Amino acid sequence: MYCIGAFGGFRWGLALGVLLIGAAISLALVPRMLFRSFRTRLADNNLALCMNCGYALEGLPEAHKCPECGEGYDLTRVRANWDYWLVYRRLPNDS
Ligand SMILES: [Zn+2]
Repeated sequence: MYCIGAFGGFRWGLALGVLLIGAAISLALVPRMLFRSFRTRLADNNLALCMNCGYALEGLPEAHKCPECGEGYDLTRVRANWDYWLVYRRLPNDS
């Protein structure tokens, strides 16, 4: 007994199912991988990344302008913000 369904038969249906499940798992993993890679970048730079563009501010003056985007920063505040973000995954002044 051979079944021809909407996807042209059981084997194609199964193949499509496996493909869709694989795609769903991959899509679910992408944000996690991005978060982990960014968390590593934050740790490598001692939480000193520009809040606006992500430029590494380590070794620059404590309070100055980002050389990359020109946004003013205060390293104490930048570190506190990233510290908060790592816990809650949002910035303290987000509403
Ligand atoms: Zn910047």
